[in-house]
Amino acid sequence: MIESSPRATKIVATLGPASNSPEMIERLIRAGVNVMRVNFSHGSVDEHSATIRIVRETAARLDRDIGVLADLQGPKIRIGKFADGKVDLVSGEPFTFDVECEVGDRQRVGLDYPELVNDVAPGDTLLLNDGRLTMRVERVGATTIECTVVVGGVLSNRKGINRQGGGLSAPALTSKDMDDIRTAAKLEADFLAVSFPKNAADMYMARELMRAAGGRALTIAKIERFEAIGNLEEILRASDGIMVARGDLAVEVGDAAVPALQKRMIRMANGLNKLTITATQMMESMIESPVPTRAEVSDVANAVLDGTDAVMLSAETAAGKFPVETVEAMVRVCLEADRHHALPFDNEFLNRTFTRVDQSIALSALWVAMRLKVKAIVALTESGSTALWMSRIDSGVPIYALTPAAAGRRRMSLFREVHPLSLDVHSKDREQVLLEAEMRVLQAGVVEHGDLIVMTIGEPIGKPGGTNTMKIVKVGFTH
Ligand code: PGA
Ligand code: MN
Repeated sequence: MIESSPRATKIVATLGPASNSPEMIERLIRAGVNVMRVNFSHGSVDEHSATIRIVRETAARLDRDIGVLADLQGPKIRIGKFADGKVDLVSGEPFTFDVECEVGDRQRVGLDYPELVNDVAPGDTLLLNDGRLTMRVERVGATTIECTVVVGGVLSNRKGINRQGGGLSAPALTSKDMDDIRTAAKLEADFLAVSFPKNAADMYMARELMRAAGGRALTIAKIERFEAIGNLEEILRASDGIMVARGDLAVEVGDAAVPALQKRMIRMANGLNKLTITATQMMESMIESPVPTRAEVSDVANAVLDGTDAVMLSAETAAGKFPVETVEAMVRVCLEADRHHALPFDNEFLNRTFTRVDQSIALSALWVAMRLKVKAIVALTESGSTALWMSRIDSGVPIYALTPAAAGRRRMSLFREVHPLSLDVHSKDREQVLLEAEMRVLQAGVVEHGDLIVMTIGEPIGKPGGTNTMKIVKVGFTH
């Protein structure tokens, strides 16, 4: 029996102390995780390489194409440490950030970014711990920022600090990030997420550094800075995709602005043939609870309905009590939401003109797949771009992307509605390769005898960007 419809929306799970063991990684993959996120904000290079090795070994054993996303720390500005690990700050009281302070107390704490004193002015609002605490800047000295606590609360060691409205001058890539890019390239990460980029130049720089280190990861720009919103289109053009990084973004632009921005970002990304990951607090209560709240279910479903490629889990899987249950809940919500098509074919699509042969074939195949009500699209793709173009419109027809290249399959693990399958090509003859592909999807159990499928292929076989042929096949009737 063929399962009714494979899940179109992909799931990214962050690995951490709660999940980076071989047993947990296997359980997460079996539960439905498509891409594992390794967070370079925490842990050492040795730990990251051990984790990635476990992911690769487990995926190979289970015969799954699981992507690895290396997420850079970026210039997240953090406070120093307190003598007691934390302090409880009360509204109305003074508090000072002091570059020279080594051990903090109720009056002051250190800062890991001395330039912050040049970026803030009296009257500014500073947000701490993802916006849970708020301070107003009163006076700025050579090494101090004197504030009044506006919204108090517990502040613990090394919490992040943001300025409302953005405008911090910190460059997107710190020297640690540059080292981490080289590490990610060496570990053959499939995706590289760049934190806090401001513009296209930041993304080009990250890609250049990665290429120079021999990496081929797809680049993902985390949209989490006020300035990035104004530069969204150029950032998209300079990247393979974006992350709607709602945690820091909400702090910089205000939480209420984020839902509409999420919709705009996803729509723009799809229009430019780019990927999107929607992230942060999607199933937050499941850090402590085995069931999600109604609001979380709606949040995940709405991201799917917005047309995101993937939804992401952070602390839920990295440090929560119920990593597997969280993924299972997310799978359930995605499957249901997937049935409602987020990005329909419209007149705008029908009026498009193309400049590329491969893109024309990809979108013709998609059009036929919808009109002829075929069971599946089978794309023989070397670079994955055929599958990418087809998946930018939500046709409801699953796309099986067949390629011998494991790295190509892992990159496609993030594409909505695309299901990578391995194919060993034994021939240079097009008809022979198409027959092998037909047998491959039959053997994978995703189509049955008599199903109609649309296939795309390029000649010469094996040349990237060469898709030039579409064929409609009734499975099992070719010979
Ligand atoms: P982070 O990024 O989890 O690395 O901070 C995501 C976000 O800010 O939402
Ligand atoms: Mn962030």
